Amino acid sequence: MTRVDQFARVLVDAPGLPPLDYRVPEDMLAATGDLVLVSLGARRVVGVIAELHSASDIESRRLKSILKNLRITAPLGSEWLQLTRFAASYYIRSWGEAALPVIPLALRRAPTPQQEKRMAGIRNVMPKTDACPKSRVTSPKLNDEQRTAVNAVLSQKGFASFLLFGVTGSGKTEVYLHLMEEVLRGNPEAQVLLLVPEINLTPQLVGRVRARFPEEAVAALNSEFTDRERAAAWLAAHEGQARILVGTRMAIFASMRHLRLILVDEEHDHSYKAGDGLRYSARDLAVWRASRLQCPVVLGSATPSLESWAKAQSGAYKLLTLTKRAAQHAQLPTVVLTPPPIKGARSMITEVSREAVESCLAEGRQILVFLNRRGYSPVLSCPACEWVSTCARCSAFTVYHKRENALICHHCGWRRPVPEACPQCGNVDILPRGTGTERIEEDLALLFPGKRILRIDRDSASKKHAAEEAFRKVHQGEVDILVGTQMVAKGHDFQNVGLVLVLNPDAQILSPSTRAREQLFATLMQVAGRAGRTGERGRVMIQTRFPEDPLFAALAHQNYVEFAEDALRERKENAGVPFIHQALLTAEADMLSQSLGFLEAAADAAQNICGDSVLVYDPVPMPLVRLMNRERGQLLVESSDRMALHRFLVEWSSVLMKLPKPGKITWALEVDPLEA
Ligand code: ADP
Ligand code: ZN
Ligand code: ZN
Repeated sequence: MTRVDQFARVLVDAPGLPPLDYRVPEDMLAATGDLVLVSLGARRVVGVIAELHSASDIESRRLKSILKNLRITAPLGSEWLQLTRFAASYYIRSWGEAALPVIPLALRRAPTPQQEKRMAGIRNVMPKTDACPKSRVTSPKLNDEQRTAVNAVLSQKGFASFLLFGVTGSGKTEVYLHLMEEVLRGNPEAQVLLLVPEINLTPQLVGRVRARFPEEAVAALNSEFTDRERAAAWLAAHEGQARILVGTRMAIFASMRHLRLILVDEEHDHSYKAGDGLRYSARDLAVWRASRLQCPVVLGSATPSLESWAKAQSGAYKLLTLTKRAAQHAQLPTVVLTPPPIKGARSMITEVSREAVESCLAEGRQILVFLNRRGYSPVLSCPACEWVSTCARCSAFTVYHKRENALICHHCGWRRPVPEACPQCGNVDILPRGTGTERIEEDLALLFPGKRILRIDRDSASKKHAAEEAFRKVHQGEVDILVGTQMVAKGHDFQNVGLVLVLNPDAQILSPSTRAREQLFATLMQVAGRAGRTGERGRVMIQTRFPEDPLFAALAHQNYVEFAEDALRERKENAGVPFIHQALLTAEADMLSQSLGFLEAAADAAQNICGDSVLVYDPVPMPLVRLMNRERGQLLVESSDRMALHRFLVEWSSVLMKLPKPGKITWALEVDPLEA
């Protein structure tokens, strides 16, 4: 018996290519969503079958056949295909460019004789249910506000977006856990997705989730995992063994056939936006995905993004508010503003700050010193001539790392040993200028001899589990003073911190970037949340030259609403995001003139497409103009009409592909950029 002819439309990871037609060999079983091996030009690549047809428009002798159906797992579902198709269209990429890269590499390698062994290896690390669950951690009784929030979400039939707004420690995570519990209990197949920010929050939170659901296989997906670990988690979610998936932004693309609830923790966090490739926002896709699934999505934050806050104000999102700290006795901290050290001072820690640390130590409570700059000093300089340490590949200073005795570029990783003398004039007294966490650690050791000081930043925590171990020490009281960057600001539930000392927020206050203030405010609210989680009221001391800045007043009242409304009013007056929609075209080449030339041509082409609903700015060099010897420019386009902008981008991007590209020009289009 012969079968009717079958043709597959296959997604491949290639720019600008639509799904490609292949013939399904007569003896091959194929389904939509199958991973298949096909030849593409001279290469053999793994693709995904997006559609099956009984006819093809391509001339039959030019059609190639599918080489192999991988059959390593069940086919990807139509919901997943729709999600990747939408993402591709929204972010102006080909469908294949959105669909393939989000599947872990281990699952889309061309098959080899080792395939069976490889898959067995992956299945070996798949998360499993605890065979003999440790006693399940009892969940606390929700307070009235938490209960109201949980009920609002559960009583929702179909899709709705909720913004769960509550200060750090107000019990948002507890709300997530209760929601998960209810959703999983209500349906034996149901799955839940919890998205968390990139930085190192996962181990602690995953631990909390596992403790609460010992009888569930909880999968975790994090960009720092090995590819095999990712593949295992991805498969567990795809095949349904894992009903809970906790993951960073990439997890929004996990295939979950029975997904019934999506939670996005710290929804304002910038790590939800991918910086390369598809440049998607996992938070925005979470809302879209929930709407397609007709299920609720909850975005949680103590300091929501202005985009989400505006949507809550307009009623597009339902606002759920937690006003109190959940744990008993926990109080909001007192905020004290104090001037920074005078120019030329020996230490960045002023006398006032030193005394505050001293008295906190005397009370037996911990201190957290926050400085958002790692390394010893941001630059080395020669006082005898004009020499400063700079990266050979980027338009940036190299940072002095004392322990490693190296100058390191924080943008590209370029490193050199510290020179013995000034490379320009031979002066042997070259000096560190400015202060990073490593130097603060040294200062503190001098100021408070005998105290146990621990630094947590990306340098100290570069080894796997080092950060976890450091946080464990803090929790166990094995640390008196903790020094750190952004990393310590996030999500950690330190119980005994009595004082948070914030050094040099002024750099961010002065920054021209529109989002720098928002980010600073969010970070300060978060670090402030570390003080006085339980027991005695905590203090936050901030060394700043701008005590009058309204940002600090809002912080002192722990009043996000005051801050957000102010910021939104300003955005509205200046026609900024979210009152306007933007896309950013970036280009890089060997020479700046080449990248700007390309952008000029792109701007000219835009004029012919856009009509008057889209505004095209002039091309400009990027703030960090040279990165890894490539010179970069950018071009902003914006519109108050999202659909008009989208239509414009679709047409524009096909023109951009055809523009001449001297100097190995590469370009990327980013929709809803964070920095523009
Ligand atoms: P958030 O996620 O808003 O920072 P968490 O959910 O982590 O807040 O709660 C902060 C602390 O309060 C945690 O130690 C948590 O166990 C505790 N907690 C939360 N809700 C309650 C509750 N209803 N009763 C008692 N303790 C609670
Ligand atoms: Zn010199
Ligand atoms: Zn560099």
